[in-house]
Amino acid sequence: MSLPPLVEPAAELTRDEVNRYSRHLIIPDVGMSGQKRLKNSKVLVVGAGGLGSPALLYLAAAGVGTLGVIDFDVVDESNLQRQIIHKQSSLGKPKVESAAEAVREINPLIDVVPHNVALDRDNIMEIFSGYDLILDGTDNFATRYMVNDAAVLLGKPYVWGSIYRFDGQASVFWAEHGPCYRCLYPEPPPPGMVPSCAEGGVLGVLCSSIGSIQVNEAIKLLAGIGEPIVGRLMIYDALEMTYRSVKVRKDPECVLCGKNPTQTELLEDYEAFCGAVSEEAAEAAQDATITVLDLKAMQDRDDDIFLVDVREPNEYEIVSIPGATLIPKGDFLNGSALEQLPQDKKIVLHCKSGARSAEALAVVKNAGFADAVHVGGGVLAWVNQIDPSQPSY
Ligand code: ZN
Repeated sequence: MSLPPLVEPAAELTRDEVNRYSRHLIIPDVGMSGQKRLKNSKVLVVGAGGLGSPALLYLAAAGVGTLGVIDFDVVDESNLQRQIIHKQSSLGKPKVESAAEAVREINPLIDVVPHNVALDRDNIMEIFSGYDLILDGTDNFATRYMVNDAAVLLGKPYVWGSIYRFDGQASVFWAEHGPCYRCLYPEPPPPGMVPSCAEGGVLGVLCSSIGSIQVNEAIKLLAGIGEPIVGRLMIYDALEMTYRSVKVRKDPECVLCGKNPTQTELLEDYEAFCGAVSEEAAEAAQDATITVLDLKAMQDRDDDIFLVDVREPNEYEIVSIPGATLIPKGDFLNGSALEQLPQDKKIVLHCKSGARSAEALAVVKNAGFADAVHVGGGVLAWVNQIDPSQPSY
């Protein structure tokens, strides 16, 4: 399916612009009119992270006239393995500032608009309404559903990408011409089922493979060329080196873009909709969460505790709390961990930040370990508050 161009052409290109974009101008499908459309385009990149980094660099180089970037985070050392728009000298700086500097360095002929805020239901509609197209590089479900919903309600195309370890996916969601994200995924996955990149890792270069597909699709939509992947899901496997595309149909029952939509505005609370942890885990953790200071005190008093690290072996190798026994969360969910737990000691569970250990805690408490607890903030809080000589990840 080909679609008409999203953006009208700018009146003209300056001599500098003609020089700069000449390799676009001599492609018949792009030409002067396509480049003028890019010049007139306003694209918002949500997140200056793994996907946002290559996307911003290529959109800037391509001559997209107004490039917005929204992020509230600062550049951290662990970002530099993949977030190639940021540099060693940007550590500690707001990501939007670091990204805007890089964009200006690549192309001073375009406008870059940094939004140094967290996207929320109160600002998203106003921010999005200033752009023709939304390119999403977020890494969490709450933001992703909110971005989709706002894009559908505003009638804007939403270029989506997702990455995990060696696997990437991309699609264009645009309710006027095809499915939206909710047609593909009506419900968020149960909390704790889908690990984030911070939990499961991501191959740095995968970000560029998927970010480039997103930019490719954005340019096609803006200039009205080729066949955009509206209604198609691209699936990339970097280990097998395969690209597949599968059809995604509009769901006539979609709450947002179906025949009889039941949702006509943004949800009150996307965090609650997606849930950080399951209800059982939240309940189990309610009166059974200790701090790392509590844990340190228990260890110093030589309390009779059995400390369990429920993360994965790779994570345990990076950093661990002294005295912890590794039993990954999966073993709690399938029940095999229970026989490894001593009956005569207090069970103390921890993970990276406290979400997975809460899930494991629910299982342990259900199995009759009534005084079991988990450590809020996990090993990251331990490094932060007890032993800063250890690495974070
Ligand atoms: Zn839909």
